[in-house]
Amino acid sequence: MHNQSIWAETVTMPNFLPLTQDIKTDTLIIGGGMTGLLCGHFMKEQGRDYILIEQNQIAGHTTAGTTAKITTQHGLIYSNLLRYQGEDIAQGYYLANKEALQRLTDMAQNTDCDFEYQTNLVYDMESEVSIEDEIKALEEIGGAGIFVKKPEGLPVTPKAAIATLNQAQFHPLKFAKAIAAPQQEHIYEKTRALGIEKEGTGYIISTADGHAIRAKEVIIATHFPFKNIRGLYFIKMHQSRSYEILLEGIGKDKLPPFMAMGSQPENLSLRTYKDKLILGGHGGKTGENHGNFNQLLEDARHYYPEAKVTRTWAAQDCMTLDQMPYIGNHNPSYENIKVATGYNKWGMTNSMVAALALTDQMEREIADIFYPHRSMAHPQVLVNLATSTANLLKLKRPRCSHLGCALVWNKEEQSWDCPCHGSRFHKEGSILNEPAQKPITKPSGV
Ligand SMILES: Cc1cc2nc3c(=O)[nH]c(=O)nc-3n(C[C@H](O)[C@H](O)[C@H](O)COP(=O)(O)OP(=O)(O)OC[C@H]3O[C@@H](n4cnc5c(N)ncnc54)[C@H](O)[C@@H]3O)c2cc1C
Repeated sequence: MHNQSIWAETVTMPNFLPLTQDIKTDTLIIGGGMTGLLCGHFMKEQGRDYILIEQNQIAGHTTAGTTAKITTQHGLIYSNLLRYQGEDIAQGYYLANKEALQRLTDMAQNTDCDFEYQTNLVYDMESEVSIEDEIKALEEIGGAGIFVKKPEGLPVTPKAAIATLNQAQFHPLKFAKAIAAPQQEHIYEKTRALGIEKEGTGYIISTADGHAIRAKEVIIATHFPFKNIRGLYFIKMHQSRSYEILLEGIGKDKLPPFMAMGSQPENLSLRTYKDKLILGGHGGKTGENHGNFNQLLEDARHYYPEAKVTRTWAAQDCMTLDQMPYIGNHNPSYENIKVATGYNKWGMTNSMVAALALTDQMEREIADIFYPHRSMAHPQVLVNLATSTANLLKLKRPRCSHLGCALVWNKEEQSWDCPCHGSRFHKEGSILNEPAQKPITKPSGV
């Protein structure tokens, strides 16, 4: 079908020239998604010397496929963080995201980006207790949520939900376009970073076109870090894919007056865009079997039989071991190479958290909770290792060009997907999703 989001369809993005010579700068930002653009926005504001390079088009990758809900309520996260990681971490995560929500709403309100304040709802299909626990956890760390028994306006009938007021939604690409415009002389598109080497007290970054960028500091904002071995990102992250469809022709009375998501990954996610509904869900780990578009389309036919599906798209995000992003030093040996990744599908506020932390606008104590090299003692690390080992040992072809795992054919999206780290390839062999940096040879027999 389509596979281009409503966002990409409804805005004309600006073009920036590629880099055509060697260049020197204080800070090099690699990657022009929400993270890179927000880092650049603050550097511009601070009058700093920086450049941003983007391998394709700014905001054309994960940021183009987002649902763009701006909220601090990332599922039932606070009861989990409080239980397994303690009060300091839960409160730090909440405060960082609250600040990010405030900064984003302040900026977006003065921008042509279809910004709207909206209530956010997280519902639970099975239990009221989980919602009560989440509200208690929020109260312990200084937040608040409203208990809603059997919320109305959803296509399903949950047991209960938590409502968070004064959250927001926007058009992510209109926003990206607006914050990129003043950065005109700093941004280079169609410029791909290949390697980073230490040179004196700084770094030398080579591009695919053979140019050299000399920088004192580097920010890797490439979604999955394009250099991921030394920081062990290939062990401490996996990717999860989500499916979205756009529904038109739903009566105003049936459109939800809030943004919503369920507490479980298989539950539906909803938000409106003007008089349309974006319905998401049935995603799962890249390279494994999950509901995919078919199940989502079935739900749409069931719950909104009058609606027309006018667009479908899918995207994937990096998932960490402990539900918190990795923001800070890319690897412990190099102080001035920074990274921001692993937003667990909550990259609107978390990319702002990263931009604030990496441009020194966040209290050190809070910024430090996102340190990428915190403990990896978590059961998910064993799952990640077991999956990688099993797929490395499989004799099947084709193999992923990243670390050599056996690829899985995704019939519905006509792609070769890696169950280990989430790289994806077009049936002809070109890269669709990182961390792979090289295409594969076109597999025969497909
Ligand atoms: C289906 C879906 C729905 C979501 N919904 C929400 C939501 O409602 N709310 C929310 O908060 N979050 C949401 N998220 C998460 C959010 O969209 C992402 O976390 C966020 O967009 C990631 O932004 P980014 O800048 O880190 O990555 P990207 O947008 O992927 O940007 C990285 C950029 O780096 C470039 N790049 C990569 N390698 C190189 C290289 N070697 N050289 C130069 N450039 C390079 C890429 O081309 C890309 O443009 C959702 C995610 C998904 C998948």
